[in-house]
Amino acid sequence: VADAKTSGGEAGPAFAEGLPGDRSETAFADYKGAYTRDQAVAEANRCLYCSDAPCIRACPTHIDIPQFIRKIASDNVRGSAKTIFEANILGMSCARVCPVEVLCVGDCVYNHLGQPPIQIGKLQRYSTDRAFEAGWSFFEAGADTGKSVGLVGAGPASLAAAHELRRFGHRATIYEKRATVGGLNTTGVAPYKMRADRSLDEVDWLLSIGGIEVKTGVAVGEHLSLEELERAHDAVFFGAGLGEDSRLGVPGEDLPGVEGAVSWIERMKLGKVPAGLRRAVVVGGGNTAIDAVREAIGLGVAEVTMVYRGDEAKMSGYEHEWKAAKVEGARAEWRAQPVAFEGDGRVERLVCRRLDGQKRPVPGSDFALEADLVLVAIGQSKLGALLANLGGIHVENGRVATDAEGRTGRAKWYAGGDCRNGGQEVVNAAAEGKAAARAIHAFLSGAQHA
Ligand SMILES: Cc1cc2nc3c(=O)[nH]c(=O)nc-3n(C[C@H](O)[C@H](O)[C@H](O)COP(=O)(O)OP(=O)(O)OC[C@H]3O[C@@H](n4cnc5c(N)ncnc54)[C@H](O)[C@@H]3O)c2cc1C
Ligand code: SF4
Repeated sequence: VADAKTSGGEAGPAFAEGLPGDRSETAFADYKGAYTRDQAVAEANRCLYCSDAPCIRACPTHIDIPQFIRKIASDNVRGSAKTIFEANILGMSCARVCPVEVLCVGDCVYNHLGQPPIQIGKLQRYSTDRAFEAGWSFFEAGADTGKSVGLVGAGPASLAAAHELRRFGHRATIYEKRATVGGLNTTGVAPYKMRADRSLDEVDWLLSIGGIEVKTGVAVGEHLSLEELERAHDAVFFGAGLGEDSRLGVPGEDLPGVEGAVSWIERMKLGKVPAGLRRAVVVGGGNTAIDAVREAIGLGVAEVTMVYRGDEAKMSGYEHEWKAAKVEGARAEWRAQPVAFEGDGRVERLVCRRLDGQKRPVPGSDFALEADLVLVAIGQSKLGALLANLGGIHVENGRVATDAEGRTGRAKWYAGGDCRNGGQEVVNAAAEGKAAARAIHAFLSGAQHA
């Protein structure tokens, strides 16, 4: 059922009110913790305020990191938060969910000086949390241009794009197929980094700029055709992210207890998943697989094993996340893949086969793993196909092809985020949404469509 909420009303949309209080995700503590004022100032004072700072280059939204850190050191927290949000309107969630170890913190010059790098994520969290707690707002909508933009999906890419479009004075309508908003920031990221209610608070805060209409329960391509969408707006931004969990295609996969990892994580974050399980197996070796392993452990599953077809050294998930999972008790079967799921009425075990160095099955190597929960984390489908019949739009391996600013080959149509980049991070979606909004503004202001 479609539900329309317009931002900037008296009380605001307050999306978090729709969440049940007893969600499974509330079992998790905040693993990284927040800085006190004294800790933040002390850490800020360690920064070398490098000219040509490598940390800025490493951030896809190019936040002026030394500047926001310098403002923390001088107790100008409001100014610090403004510096962050000016570059990245999703700076609050990025402070918690960004893999800083491979972005800004990973590039801090201190790494080459044999000293601990500046904790940029925790400093960013200090400023942006204070901004939320104090209710500070920094941006106003531009004078109304009379133009309107339709955005598909209410994830980080569309939210960043809609906010930027409002600053230019264009009206924005976001169509979201789910009942909830925020995309994977709400339904996917690990609860020990950020819970769903915090993501929804961020959406409320972002929408307080006013003039952004959010229509939930509207699946574009189903409830609203692409042609209708195109006719209703002066430009369209496609930010639909990725689709369903991919399947292995082996016998027994439909048994209860075998589930796609992203779908299970969504149920765990927005509601309750069964507790008291003894053995869980997670299939895959990427970041979603590692998250699922750590989440199952955190929910009290006694034995959690990851089954991955490659070697530990070659897994695609981040090394620092896997290290943390091992400390928490995760086990792994390397160079193995499931060939069948078995059980009487629900999954009880999976049969796995060993693989050689070229990922070829090794004859006679089958072994069984007992499991009362199996989470399949081998990727998600791509949604570009939805646009494949629109003349001028090119879809490459399921991704929507665009130039660097998000222009597709069809006038009025732009894209960004996971549906364009194939699945990266929240900060990439935020950067791509903002870049596309700027290109849309140029187009609506009369500049040529590339
Ligand atoms: C399990 C998991 C954990 C992750 N953890 C992290 C992390 O810790 N840190 C990090 O930086 N990144 C993380 N990511 C990646 C990050 O969440 C994504 O890169 C980011 O959310 C992409 O933003 P997006 O707006 O492109 O897509 P999404 O967040 O997927 O949002 C797309 C939205 O579009 C909607 N939609 C889809 N089709 C339609 C349609 N036809 N009509 C209307 N609406 C539609 C969807 O319902 C969704 O709400 C994680 C991803 C997963 C799967
Ligand atoms: S690289 Fe490190 S020390 Fe230099 S400005 Fe960035 S955070 Fe500060």
